[in-house]
Amino acid sequence: GSGNGKRGRHMLRISQVKTRDTDRRSIEHALMKKLGLKNGDLKHWTIYRRSVDARHHDVTFSWIIDAQLRNEARHLMKKDVRPTPEKPAPFRPKGVIALKTPPVVAGFGPAGMFAALDLAEHGYRPIVLERGQKIEQRRQDVDHFWKTGELDPESNVQFGEGGAGAFSDGKLTTRSRDPLVDELLETLHAHGASLDILVDAYPHIGTDAFEAIIQSIRRRILELGGEIRFGARLEEVKIEDDRLTAINVNGRWEPCQALILALGHSASDTLRQLHEDGIHMESKPFQVGVRIEHPQRFINEAMLHDFKDDPRLIPARYTLTAMADNGKGIYTFCMCPGGYVIASSAQPGQLVVNGMSYADRAGENANSALLVQVNESDYGPGLFDGLAYQEEIEKRAFALSPDYRAPVQKAADYLEGVVSESLSTRPTYEPGTVPADLNTLFSDEVNHALHQGLLDFERKVPGFLEGTMTGVETRASSAIRIPRDKVTRMGDEGIYPSGEGSGYAGGIMTSAIDGVKSARALMDRYAPCVQSD
Ligand code: FAD
Repeated sequence: GSGNGKRGRHMLRISQVKTRDTDRRSIEHALMKKLGLKNGDLKHWTIYRRSVDARHHDVTFSWIIDAQLRNEARHLMKKDVRPTPEKPAPFRPKGVIALKTPPVVAGFGPAGMFAALDLAEHGYRPIVLERGQKIEQRRQDVDHFWKTGELDPESNVQFGEGGAGAFSDGKLTTRSRDPLVDELLETLHAHGASLDILVDAYPHIGTDAFEAIIQSIRRRILELGGEIRFGARLEEVKIEDDRLTAINVNGRWEPCQALILALGHSASDTLRQLHEDGIHMESKPFQVGVRIEHPQRFINEAMLHDFKDDPRLIPARYTLTAMADNGKGIYTFCMCPGGYVIASSAQPGQLVVNGMSYADRAGENANSALLVQVNESDYGPGLFDGLAYQEEIEKRAFALSPDYRAPVQKAADYLEGVVSESLSTRPTYEPGTVPADLNTLFSDEVNHALHQGLLDFERKVPGFLEGTMTGVETRASSAIRIPRDKVTRMGDEGIYPSGEGSGYAGGIMTSAIDGVKSARALMDRYAPCVQSD
């Protein structure tokens, strides 16, 4: 691809430019034909997005093009043509309340990382608190857990530098139309992500490629005078007259005036304590379910038919949704082509699975979460009832094998309620699996919905029931929301609940965008702290 080049002031954005091939001549030809251009009408063009569609036994590439044309106004009325949105002006902080201490960012996942980076880039020298370890150490702790089943409760797939996104498929897909999407993709590219993420309609990074990006962002924050403390757990906050005055880190109190709270959705210990300290919270619906795996080759055939071997299209993706007769939605989520099902527990005695892939997505299996929506009618009206319900399922799954081996079952056997004698799809989960009846882990309502969903998916993708289900996936989104003001983005004065754990985002991109927005709201209120050093 030719990347996102300069976007001049007078440009048109043309979508639905379709080709069979990916070379520049084919694209240019299709663009000229679509707009009825003559030679000399097209002055300059760049690719904004590309996507590929394999349907009806045919492959088409679809492009969104930014182009400079002669007589642009003439084309503006045409279908699929609009002015290229102007790049927003660079952010300039307007804050006037002088901070007495540097702003603190608690949590160094996508929300916290991008918030801290943005604060640092604007001269705010943030202090980052991350309860887990640096990515290099964390990678070793996670590998050790996957090999031995010995969990480090402070350094794992949920906790540590890079947050929950570090060991992931690194899908950067988002439905958000926010101008920050382009800005953040460019930041990721500047820190080492491949140029492809700027143009792919389904950009993805991969666990192995993430590590260098995380290190690069860390270096930049330090270079700009920020401070990052690992093994530093935010334990409490002090709120006086509805205003944040101090925080407790590893048992010691420090003054603090402005705090970005980006803890992710797995720090239930901290959440419970912060609620005691007076931070207002609400419960919110979430999802529970399993991971399901199939051979990637099977998914390629099912989705791509004649193009099942086309290197431009494989490994194939899928998304499936269904509605059960008890009103519950069932859907696949966070599908990882050529990936692995991984142990992602953070708490001892609780089993949680998720999926990841490497940059090349070359693993033998495809996996996807298979989830059912749950709400108060499933777990009760209390603030922490949802969290307790989640933990209950995770404990039940753990109890089947107290060394973090995960329960597995062929989907067809799950429908029958029998423990599988053999599996058609070999599970990728480490440190190992145990055959079990997954019906014993969920409520009747959830099982009923999953059964109906699976039958529907089998109709849509014959052979789907040969897949292997691995339990349990319970952390697809947060069970808690920390309310904040729409405009100031604060809860109590000085506290900015952000990212997935505060209930405002789901996924890497939306969490990162939410973090940046909180940082900017903070900078529009407060002026940097003048440090004497
Ligand atoms: P988190 O990433 O959870 O980060 C929170 C951080 O806060 C953690 O590092 C934690 O250690 C720290 N913390 C917690 N408590 C404290 C405390 N008391 N003091 C100090 N620090 C604390 N999303 C996608 O968009 N695409 C994907 O492909 C994808 N794949 C995933 C695969 C896996 C295995 C997992 C687990 C998640 C995946 N996700 C994916 C989801 C995505 O990772 C999350 O949505 C995202 O990381 C949320 O960002 P966050 O910054 O809000 O929280």
